[in-house]
Amino acid sequence: MFWEETIETMPLPDLQALQFERLKTTVARAANAPFYKKVFAKSGLEPAAIKSLDDIRRIPFTTKEDLRESWPYGLLAVAKEELVRMHSSSGTTGRSTVIFHTAADLDAWTDILTRSMFMTGMRKADVFQNMMTYGLFTGGLGFHYGAERLGALTIPVGAGNSRRQIQLMRDFDTTVIHIIPSYALHLTEVFEELEVEPRRDTRLRIAFLGAEPHSEKTRQRIEEFYGLKAFNSYGLSEMNGPGVGFECQCQAGLHVWEDNFLMEIVDPDTLEPVADGMEGELVMTTLRRAGMPILRYRTKDLTRIIAGPCACGRTHRRIERITGRTDDMLIIKGVNIFPVQIEKKLMEIDGVGTNFQIILERKGYNDHMIVRVEVAREFFSGDLKQLELLRKHITEELRSDILITPRVDLLEPNTLPKTEGKAVRVIDNRTD
Ligand code: ADP
Ligand code: ZN
Repeated sequence: MFWEETIETMPLPDLQALQFERLKTTVARAANAPFYKKVFAKSGLEPAAIKSLDDIRRIPFTTKEDLRESWPYGLLAVAKEELVRMHSSSGTTGRSTVIFHTAADLDAWTDILTRSMFMTGMRKADVFQNMMTYGLFTGGLGFHYGAERLGALTIPVGAGNSRRQIQLMRDFDTTVIHIIPSYALHLTEVFEELEVEPRRDTRLRIAFLGAEPHSEKTRQRIEEFYGLKAFNSYGLSEMNGPGVGFECQCQAGLHVWEDNFLMEIVDPDTLEPVADGMEGELVMTTLRRAGMPILRYRTKDLTRIIAGPCACGRTHRRIERITGRTDDMLIIKGVNIFPVQIEKKLMEIDGVGTNFQIILERKGYNDHMIVRVEVAREFFSGDLKQLELLRKHITEELRSDILITPRVDLLEPNTLPKTEGKAVRVIDNRTD
């Protein structure tokens, strides 16, 4: 059931006591970093002033901008020779940031990944195919070491080359995959082209879906097509990478490993804590990192804390699947929309394929949204009336959900550009 039972089921007061001890150590360590030296001096904060977990609110937030400005070594809290690994963010929203680890940091990161994978039911006898990019991106190596520590045969194939992925799955009886959800959807088409049925022709039983927002409906589609259970995996390079939040077998929110991270949910505008259970921006503090501790990092990811204990028996609190980043929010005709809302709606509609794209344009003072949707091939042969009916249906479904009427363009499968990494859902052609 548990990889590290004592920690995973630790009563909340004990967990908080552990967090407090680790917070004090972290703040004291951070005080050695040039960046935090300045921050502490400016705010008159002494590490000794942290006398309870709540005192964390006396520490200023750290932002992605701070990390960018401290490039390359401004947040190091140890001598450079103590470091053994560098990683970087994907650079989805601008210049990427770099993160450094000591050997002990990597050890702790590996622990939480092993714990996460074990929690979903993955075991030593599994064959794990890691379909995430290796290299600076954290998804590859992070999971790799976790799976090896668990004792599973690990295939470090990396991203892309769909046919080879399928071949490997079949030849080596892969049971567990780690994959980006948009790529998992795309791969279904390759399976179909090759007339391989994962349910019949593979032994897949578990998938870890991570790196980008996706809806419950997408999870269900993936589970149905591949015949497996899919678990949501959340992380960000600034907090190591994957292993920050992970679903257990209950699939009812992601447990955040609170012995490693201190989480807060704040209102992104006022930066005050939100009321219990309300949505806000996730703010994280590393509790076990020595090389590059980060205090109160504004992730920009929106989520909420799910109240109450989890049926699995773990005490670490759960968060809801991420809605998106505050930066991802589209404002069109005064309406706020997250791309994942559109994804959710589209994935519920029969006939909708595996890929879509949102294009924003400005004509005069008006913003226009065009949703380009791949639909099943059969709509393009024979009676085109069916295609028009589907287009109307999709338009109406979207309108009822997002309250503006987009122009919907229907496309044949495999028309939209695909990426090996995170899907690019929005093309914003509005110029200000
Ligand atoms: P970048 O911030 O440049 O994209 P990262 O590779 O560190 O680089 O990506 C981390 C971000 O990816 C998170 O902050 C979050 O926005 C997104 N992300 C990762 N996993 C998930 C997930 N399971 N659900 C939703 N979003 C996710
Ligand atoms: Zn649970």
